[in-house]
This record gives sequence, C-alpha cells and structure tokens, in this order.
Amino acid sequence: MALTRIGLAGLAVMGQNLALNIAEKGFPISVYNRTTSKVDETVQRAKLEGNLPLYGFHDPASFVNSIQKPRVVIMLVKAGAPVDQTIATLAAHLEQGDCIVDGGNEWYENTERREKAMEERGLLYLGMGVSGGEEGARHGPSMMPGGSLEAYQYIEDILLKVSAQVPDSGPCVTYIGKGGSGNFVKMVHNGIEYGDMQLIAEAYDVLKSVGKLTNGELQQVFAEWNKGELLSFLVEITADIFSIKDDQGEGYLVDKAQLIEDVRKALYASKICSYAQGMNIIKAKSTEKGWGLNLGELARIWKGGCIIRASFLDRIKKAYDRNGELANLLIDPEFAQEIMDRQAAWRRVVCLAINNGVSTPGMSASLAYFDSYRRDRLPANLVQAQRDYFGAHTYERVDMPGSFHTEWYKIA
Ligand code: NAP
Repeated sequence: MALTRIGLAGLAVMGQNLALNIAEKGFPISVYNRTTSKVDETVQRAKLEGNLPLYGFHDPASFVNSIQKPRVVIMLVKAGAPVDQTIATLAAHLEQGDCIVDGGNEWYENTERREKAMEERGLLYLGMGVSGGEEGARHGPSMMPGGSLEAYQYIEDILLKVSAQVPDSGPCVTYIGKGGSGNFVKMVHNGIEYGDMQLIAEAYDVLKSVGKLTNGELQQVFAEWNKGELLSFLVEITADIFSIKDDQGEGYLVDKAQLIEDVRKALYASKICSYAQGMNIIKAKSTEKGWGLNLGELARIWKGGCIIRASFLDRIKKAYDRNGELANLLIDPEFAQEIMDRQAAWRRVVCLAINNGVSTPGMSASLAYFDSYRRDRLPANLVQAQRDYFGAHTYERVDMPGSFHTEWYKIA
C-alpha cells in the first residue's frame, strides 16, 4: 500500500464521517480508533460508499507509519483527558515536523498548553473547531482551524475541499489565528447556536401558549418565516418538526396575525443581540490575546456547513466589511435601523409573555442587553456607593480619573 496523505484517529460520529468525506474528496486516508471494531466499521462503510481510499489500522504504530511525511493526524475524540491520552499514543510514533490536529470541542487553553508541549517535541499543533454534526462532517462542515500556520498551510488543500462550499462565498474554512483561537471561536459559535435554538423555542412557546396556534399553523408560520430575514437551517428544521404531528387548537386568545408578526420581529431583534454579544466576546478575547481575528471572515465561514448557517450571516459579514473596527453590531447603521423598526413589537411580545406567565429568558435578556447598551448611563454608581459604604472598596467617578472613598455613614 502506498503511503496515505493524512490520518484520522477517533472514529465515533464525527471522525468516521469526516474520514469518509476526506477520502471521497480524493485524499487517501489512514484511520485508527482505540476500540478496533470502529476501524472495521469505517473500512466497511468506505467500501459500501464507493470504494473510497480509506485504510484501517488496529495499532497506532502501523497507523502512523502508513502516512506520508510530514505526517498529519486529525484527532476526533472526546475533549479533555482522552485528547491527552490520544496525543501520548500518537506522539510516541510521530517524528519532528509531523502535525497533530484536534478537531474536537476542546477548551482553548488546553489547546494552547498542548501546542507548547508539542512544540518542545518538534511537533506542530492545530486546534480546529468543526461544526455541522454528522451530516456536515460527511458532506461539508464549517471548520475553524487555529494554531500553527505552517500546519494549516500543509493541509489547506484538504480543508478547502472537504468543507462546505457556499456559492459566491467560497469554502467554509479559513485560518482563524494563533493559539487556541480556533477552539475559542468554535465555542462562541456553539453559544450562538444554542442562543438561536432557545430564541426559536421561545417564539414557539408564545405562539403556542398565548396565541394557541396548532402545530399545523406553527409549521406554516415557520415555513413562511424561512422565506424572509429569518431564513436559516434552524428555522427550516423547526417548520419540519411541526409538520410531523398536527394537534387541534382551541382558537385564539389574541389577534393571531398581529401576534405572529410581532413574534417574528421579536425573534429577529433578539437574534441580532445574540450575534452582537457572540461577536463581541470573540473581539474582546482577540484583543486580549493579540490574535487579530477577522470577524467578517468568521461570519463568512459560518454561512454553510454548520448549524447556524443563515442568510443573516451575509449581512453580518457586510457590516464588518463596511467597518472592520465596528464596536458592536447594534451600531452598524443597517442593524441599528432594523432593531429600531422592530423594538415596539419586541417589547409587546416580552410584555405579553410576562403577563401570561410564559418565560422568555432569551428574548427578555436580549431586550435587556439592548436597553443597557443604548442607555447613556446605568445605575452602577449606586452599586459602587453601596460597596464603598460597607467595604471601603472605593469608587470611580465619571467626571475625573482616580479612585475615591467617602465616609458615607458619618455623613448620613
Ligand atoms: P465522542 O462521543 O465525543 O467521543 C468518542 C470517541 O472518543 C471515540 O472514538 C472514543 O474511542 C474516543 N475516546 C474516548 N475516550 C478515549 C480515550 N481515553 N482514549 C482514546 N480515545 C478515546 O465523539 P464525537 O461525537 O464524534 O465527537 C468528537 C469530538 O467532536 C468531540 O470533541 C465533540 O465535542 C466534537 N463535536 C461533536 C459533534 C457531534 O455532533 N457529535 C459536533 C461537533 C463537534 P472508543 O471508541 O475507543 O471509545
């Protein structure tokens, strides 16, 4: 057997499917898994799915030796200790200049620790977030590689081909930046993903619990929303979910058409706040670590392959193209206008939910974020005064620099 181009260790859902994807794109691949039955299963799938160039190994030495030098091994195992254990297994057979890529959801500081340790052994290291679940891994995920640029460049041709391809936008992969930036960006991406899911669930709850919409009606509403500004994978699958079962409703408590329109606006406005917070977390960490991340480019690689894929991401990319130093998406002129146009409806929905005892923590927190952001001053002055009163913690003033203390109880 000729040497393969790349190796992959860890053949659960993600690893097995990504290995088949890489093989399908024409890159011969070696695979390995601690439990060897998964190796045989993957080899069998490769045969059934078109005799793909995928070769299985039951022991780490022959696995590593089957890969062309400099060798690259992608690991897709459980984050944490299993990653350290797999590194130890692989590194025993790797040589100077070889590279390990962790494709799992690893805490970014663990990646930075491992990158340093690998560097001392002459090995290169990448922490690469992979999004898209089973389907994405098999047919085209969004990939967020960070760490050694040299290692990225060595496998760039593979990543460009196996990642999701979005017409007019290109492959959903880019070199993210140094250190653990790839894992950090993936972590925030996942936060945004679950924020989206929560907001959609709250919209559904208001429509169902207050509006008394049936599942059939909910299916129609979400399908309709998926044609406009909310067009996204998650809204699409939500419509599908409601098409499975159609409960009979009991009529409507409020004007249905008005409520549906208000909830759509509330969902969109909340979504803007959720993405604004996610992007600003990344921006703050990038500044702290000196990663120099390109926020518009991140929005581009999330347009396909991953769970948060949506037309909305194109708008975010354009906002950062207009102003690379944008302090917050909320003050981009287009997003600012959109949120202003929707805020009355957003407030109505949150009030309606509160009055009906329906909890909408995502929408309410997003509205609170917006209201905090737009205020000239917040009441932190009183909190500072209380802390200074009971603990002499001192306080800052807005009219002069420095830190101050007042003998409050003596004055009182
Ligand atoms: P997983 O369930 O997170 O992990 C299972 C894999 O880890 C198996 O190959 C298992 O080997 C291996 N493993 C566990 N402990 C080990 C150890 N001590 N030493 C060596 N190998 C060990 O698999 P997954 O769902 O495919 O996810 C892989 C990574 O991708 C994770 O970091 C996950 O968070 C991330 N991810 C998952 C998804 C998803 O949709 N599933 C999406 C994006 C990212 P054995 O077979 O021998 O037990």
